[in-house]
Amino acid sequence: MIEADVAIIGAGAAGLSLAHRLCLPAPGARPARRPSVVLVTAPPGPLRPPARTWCFWEAGRGRFDAAVTTAWRRLRVHPPTGEPIEDDISPLRYKMIRSDDFECLVEHDLTRTGRVRRLEAVVDDVEGVADGARVHARTASGSSRCVQARWVFDSRPLGSLPAARTTLLQHFHGWFVRTPRPVFDPARADLMDFRTAQPATGLSFGYLLPTGTRQALVEYTEFSPAVLSADAYEKALRHYTGSVLGLTDFEVTATETGVIPMTDARFARRTGDSVFRIGTAGGATRPSTGYTFAGVQRQTAAVAAALGQGRRPVPPQPHPLRSRAMDAVLLHALDSGLVDGAAFFARLFTRVPMTRLLRFLDGETRPHEELGIGLHTPVLPMLRAAAAVPLLPRRPFPGP
Ligand SMILES: Cc1cc2nc3c(=O)[nH]c(=O)nc-3n(C[C@H](O)[C@H](O)[C@H](O)COP(=O)(O)OP(=O)(O)OC[C@H]3O[C@@H](n4cnc5c(N)ncnc54)[C@H](O)[C@@H]3O)c2cc1C
Repeated sequence: MIEADVAIIGAGAAGLSLAHRLCLPAPGARPARRPSVVLVTAPPGPLRPPARTWCFWEAGRGRFDAAVTTAWRRLRVHPPTGEPIEDDISPLRYKMIRSDDFECLVEHDLTRTGRVRRLEAVVDDVEGVADGARVHARTASGSSRCVQARWVFDSRPLGSLPAARTTLLQHFHGWFVRTPRPVFDPARADLMDFRTAQPATGLSFGYLLPTGTRQALVEYTEFSPAVLSADAYEKALRHYTGSVLGLTDFEVTATETGVIPMTDARFARRTGDSVFRIGTAGGATRPSTGYTFAGVQRQTAAVAAALGQGRRPVPPQPHPLRSRAMDAVLLHALDSGLVDGAAFFARLFTRVPMTRLLRFLDGETRPHEELGIGLHTPVLPMLRAAAAVPLLPRRPFPGP
């Protein structure tokens, strides 16, 4: 039996962020007793998620800056027609981290401090015991391992989504492209480009992150009820790169595909006296956008602070109740067709400064600012959606 103060299950964005925060407190934080930590990671195989890129925004230097590929100060949104909207988001920066670089950075820091033990094993069960919990796992060779910890933080993906009033999917396919000549402007990123064909329900947009004058990540994204076939993503990306961006000569060096549920489901963050969920499984995804990385950081920072102060480390809900209520209304408005998704977002970006929208998405706006944002949406359809939401039943999601 391995004993520790804290067991972390899963070494994705959430598990690694928490391990990093527990072994390397934030600069300036009061010295606290650091807990002993065991990080249980799945052996290579199907339980390891494929490499991905995470984008998020923050002001100033960040804990994981050494792993940032590119950071942009200017963001642009293209409405379906007409002039693009471009904004300087200072003091914020839109940052991109590749999961491989993030893993290397965290691995390096964990090894340097020597404070986190690793166990490579598949977790089968977590059992509550007096004053803690036991994590039962199997190594790749089939032998059993048991970790007993005072606190367990579980980031394993849920088998199925909790019941919700509305669940849409943010699903996307992207190409990392390289061109023979300089064609990209790495000074700005295109957050949403609505010059794509719009689906019957929800919306679609292109996403362009130039990491150099000849390299970029280009994605086709939908917020809609179901994923597309591989052929349909290829076709949509060919249309976006060719007909919209006018890119004719490029090489695809890698691809990225993802599905992120956008749901007003309630995610349990506590599953036992000493057992908590973190990350996507613990409700860190912002329902209206799919952004998760920043929510993971807020959640794991709060857990580390609670442990440092000897408090019960229940992971907080990283998105305030008000934000989630507004997201539930938007998800229903998109799903039911009460609003035209592309026009809705284009209008918001035209009328509200981007920094305010980004602060809103971080749950940092005040009620009067949120009212101001609300007044820039199509008010009557949104009021109809708001009136309908409380009457909608919560239903299980059948799956992508
Ligand atoms: C392609 C893609 C791109 C994304 N881009 C962004 C973005 O730009 N910005 C953003 O904010 N969000 C983004 N997201 C959403 C979100 O940030 C990611 O999904 C993020 O990886 C979630 O982190 P997590 O730790 O909660 O879950 P995961 O990364 O899925 O980690 C779960 C961990 O649990 C482990 N595990 C699973 N089962 C077991 C088991 N039985 N035993 C032991 N370990 C187990 C896995 O190996 C994994 O390490 C993206 C998602 C995808 C799929």
